[in-house]
Amino acid sequence: MAPKEVKDLEICIVGAGMGGLATALALAKQGFKNIHVYESASNLGFVGAGIQLAPNMARVLDRLGVWQDIEKEAVDLKDTSIRQGSTDAELGHVDLRYIRDTYIYPHMVGHRSSLASSMYEGCLREDTITFHMATSAGTVKSWGPRPVMEMIPRQGDKYDVTSDVLFACDGVKSTIRDQLLRLKDIDAKIVDTGQAAYRIMLRREDMQNDAELLELINQESVTRWIGEKRHIIAYPVSNKQIYNLSTVQPDRNFASAPSATYTTKGSKPQMMEIFGDFCPKVRRMLDLVPEGEVCEWKLRVHEPLPFWVYEQTVLVGDACHPTLPHLAQGAAQAIEDGAVIAVALARAPEATPEAIGKAMRVYEEVRKERAYKLVEIAAASGRAMHLGEGKEKEERDRQFAALKEGKGPVPDKWADADIQKVIYGEDVMKITEENFERLYAGM
Ligand SMILES: Cc1cc2nc3c(=O)[nH]c(=O)nc-3n(C[C@H](O)[C@H](O)[C@H](O)COP(=O)(O)OP(=O)(O)OC[C@H]3O[C@@H](n4cnc5c(N)ncnc54)[C@H](O)[C@@H]3O)c2cc1C
Repeated sequence: MAPKEVKDLEICIVGAGMGGLATALALAKQGFKNIHVYESASNLGFVGAGIQLAPNMARVLDRLGVWQDIEKEAVDLKDTSIRQGSTDAELGHVDLRYIRDTYIYPHMVGHRSSLASSMYEGCLREDTITFHMATSAGTVKSWGPRPVMEMIPRQGDKYDVTSDVLFACDGVKSTIRDQLLRLKDIDAKIVDTGQAAYRIMLRREDMQNDAELLELINQESVTRWIGEKRHIIAYPVSNKQIYNLSTVQPDRNFASAPSATYTTKGSKPQMMEIFGDFCPKVRRMLDLVPEGEVCEWKLRVHEPLPFWVYEQTVLVGDACHPTLPHLAQGAAQAIEDGAVIAVALARAPEATPEAIGKAMRVYEEVRKERAYKLVEIAAASGRAMHLGEGKEKEERDRQFAALKEGKGPVPDKWADADIQKVIYGEDVMKITEENFERLYAGM
C-alpha cells in the first residue's frame, strides 16, 4: 500500500467553538481531506453576546474566506471612551480610526453568533469537513501514535474514533486537558480570578425613548465605565440594533460552586445593588434587563501549561490558554491557533506520527509565548481598571488625563497603541510559513 499523503491524514476535532471551527476551516483551506468535528451541543445555538473583532482575527478570517459575511453586520469602531462609573465623567478617550490604515483590517464589534455562524457556514461549504453534533468526547483511550477518543452520542451507543491527530478544542472546561494533566501528574490549578461577569443584550426599541441611551447605541464606540473591582464595557452590535453590555464584578455566587459550574441565572436586584453607585444612565440601562434574564458567568483561568502537544494530541484555544476578557482576545487567539495549526501541519514532510508530532510542536512554539503574554496583559489591564482609592489609581488617572494631550500609555490595554502593535502587528500565519523549516528541524 502506498504511504499516506499528509493531506489524507484523519483529523479529529473535539469542540465546534471558536477554536474548533477555525481549525477545521483552516485545515480544509490547506487541502486536508478528512476532517471530523465532534460537538456536544445538538446545534450551535450560540450564546447571546457581543464580541470584539480585532484586526488579527479579521486577517485570519479573511484568508479563510468568511470575513466579508461577518463584516457586513459588524460595527466599525471609531473610538473608545473610558469613564468613571459613578459620575460618567470621561477619564480617557482613544481614537481607533488609525487601525484600519495601519493594520489593513479595522477593529470592529459584532454579535458572537454572527462570527460563529459565518465560520460554521464556511465549514459547511467544504465537503472535506463532517460535523457530528450532539456527540461528546469521553475518555481519551490513546494519545498517539493514532489517538483513540471515546465518543458519547446523545442517542445511541458509545463508540471509539481513531485518528492520526486529535485536536482538543473543547474550551475552558476541556475534559481532554484535564485527562492529560492527570496522566502526566501535572497540577495546573484553576486560578480563581474572584471575578464574574453579566452578559446583557438590550434591544434598540428598549433604548429609543431615552435620549442618552439612544445616543449610546447610535455611536460607533466602545464605552467602559469603571469603578473599584467592577466595570462595564458596552458597544452596539448587529447594525446597531442591539447594545451589548458585559460587566465584571466580584464573584459572590460561584465562590463555593463546584469547578464545573461556569454560568448561572443571576439575580437582577443583586446586579442593581452591585452597580448601585454607578451613574443614573448606567443604572437605567441595567434596569432595562428583564427580570429572570440576567445571566452570570464565572471568569476562570488556569495556570500556564508546560506543553500543549502530547504525542499526536493537541490542545487549542481556551483548553490551553483561557484568559480574562479584558483584552478581548480569547476568541481571536483560539482562531490564531487554528490558522497556525493548519499552516504547520500542511508543511509536515510526511504523514508519519513523528512528523505530525514535530509539526504540532512547531505550532506550540509559535503560539505559546504570545498567547500567555496576552493572558498576562489581560489580567494586568483588569487590575488597573479595578483600582480603589490610592496612589496607583491616581497614577492611572493621570495617565488617562495625559491622553487628552495625545500622550502616553492607555491603562485600558486593548486600546493602547503599543499593545495593539504587539497583538495586531504580528501575522502568525506568515511567521509560521517563514519559520517552519527552521523550527521543525530543531524539534
Ligand atoms: C464575558 C466574556 C467576554 C468575552 N469577550 C470576548 C471578546 O470580546 N473577544 C474575544 O476574542 N474573546 C472574548 N471572550 C473569550 C472567548 O469567548 C473564548 O476565549 C473563546 O470562545 C475560546 O474558544 P474555544 O474554541 O477555545 O472555546 P469555546 O468557544 O468555548 O468552544 C468550546 C466548544 O467545545 C464544546 N465542547 C466542550 N466539551 C466538549 C466535549 N467533551 N465534547 C464535545 N464538545 C465539547 C463546547 O460545547 C463548545 O462548543 C470572552 C469571554 C467571556 C467569558
